[in-house]
Amino acid sequence: MRCPVCDRIETGRVASDQYFCWRCCVEFHGAPGRWRVFRVDEEGNLVEAVAGGEEATDASGPGPAIEAPAEAAV
Ligand SMILES: [Zn+2]
Repeated sequence: MRCPVCDRIETGRVASDQYFCWRCCVEFHGAPGRWRVFRVDEEGNLVEAVAGGEEATDASGPGPAIEAPAEAAV
């Protein structure tokens, strides 16, 4: 089963219609096209992950922003 989040196939089945993605560390329930995605919090509770990325705060990427060298003069 492909993970609906990362689209990888490194998933494990935890129940008849429940799977776990080892890459994202999320559980997903349901069926293709209508997945509900849950992440596991520090206490082991399943918390439904809201589509749209509630944790998408790292848009700028890692590391300091270093400007690329200017293009070579023509
Ligand atoms: Zn995944």
